[in-house]
Amino acid sequence: MPDNKVADMHRSEQRPQFWALSMRCCQLAGTVDISFFVIFLWLGSPILAWVNVISVAMYVYAYRAFRDHRNRLAIMLIRTEVLVHAALGTLLIGWDSGFHYFLLMFIPALFATMRQRSAWTLAICLWAYYVGMYVLMWFVDPLQPISANALLYVNIFNFTVVFLMFSYLTMFYVLTVTRAHRRLARMATTDPLTGLFNRRHMVELTEKLLAREQRQPGNLTLMLMDLDHFKEINDQYGHELGDRVLERVAALLREQGREQDFVGRWGGEEFLAVMPETDPVQAQAAGERIRAAVQAMDWQDVQPGLQVTLCVGITQLGEEESFSNAIARADRALYRGKAHGRNRVEQGDVGDLDSTLVDQPA
Ligand code: GH3
Ligand code: MG
Ligand code: MG
Repeated sequence: MPDNKVADMHRSEQRPQFWALSMRCCQLAGTVDISFFVIFLWLGSPILAWVNVISVAMYVYAYRAFRDHRNRLAIMLIRTEVLVHAALGTLLIGWDSGFHYFLLMFIPALFATMRQRSAWTLAICLWAYYVGMYVLMWFVDPLQPISANALLYVNIFNFTVVFLMFSYLTMFYVLTVTRAHRRLARMATTDPLTGLFNRRHMVELTEKLLAREQRQPGNLTLMLMDLDHFKEINDQYGHELGDRVLERVAALLREQGREQDFVGRWGGEEFLAVMPETDPVQAQAAGERIRAAVQAMDWQDVQPGLQVTLCVGITQLGEEESFSNAIARADRALYRGKAHGRNRVEQGDVGDLDSTLVDQPA
């Protein structure tokens, strides 16, 4: 395969929407040129009418080139078509035909497709071409003039098409940027495996919540969860299966959460739930519900005989206490659960003066 084509294919994969848009532009421009064919035959300007037949053929060819990932060829065809068409139209029926407006469509296309330096160079060349045509037509009469009224219609038609194309392209550009922005924001805030919030976003969300709300002691619960013997699951059944387990547990946590709670992946096989307006009794009940739900999960379709459990460490954020301090306490509660046999829910007191074993699963 020639190097150019490989490079073109690579570019097509990189920005598929951009090349899809280029193909759409070929269709639009081809349709406009078919209308021109009819208009100029009607206006009694056969040369211009037949120029449009060549133009349509060029757009069809450019469209097929895009489809075959021969982007360079396609772009070259489009550039040639627009430059020659604008020049011919202007030379034959005059500057007032407005064929030069189409040259302006190149400006955003140049900056969207190439490096800034090349784009600026070509934009300056385009400007020179534009000025050259204008000055030329100042001194030269049109070769095949049409009536003043016809010239008016052609001009209105041309700038209407340019208006529509610019509006369409701008709308497309804004949509693409907005979509890309959303995708980036999602990538920056979520964990790709589980789809839960990532650790950094959990910290941000909690800190925002604390800054926004008048904090009342004991009503913001942190619940840290850690799967039991997860390393053994990985070792015994493989990392892939371990990933499936993480995905399923994450889905369960998402289902169990209330609307005001947020759940994230805190580390490898650790999850964190931040639960506003939740007192210790409610927190204990929620932790116990999750522990029991994970224990009761059916893994038959993933791995017959697989049993997954987790430990839950719960704590309430104290007044004026830092988030990291409270997390450390939840972590200690969690590890008490591990030490006491796993598959347990443990609460850590504010200040960690005393840690009470609240729950004893059967
Ligand atoms: P404990 O009950 O004490 O928590 O034991 P454990 O085996 O769960 O804890 P340990 O910290 O020894 O092991 C955690 C394991 O989690 C080790 C690591 O390979 C695994 N792990 C971390 N992230 C991922 C992941 O994204 N996918 C998979 N499959 N495994 C992961
Ligand atoms: Mg762990
Ligand atoms: Mg673990």
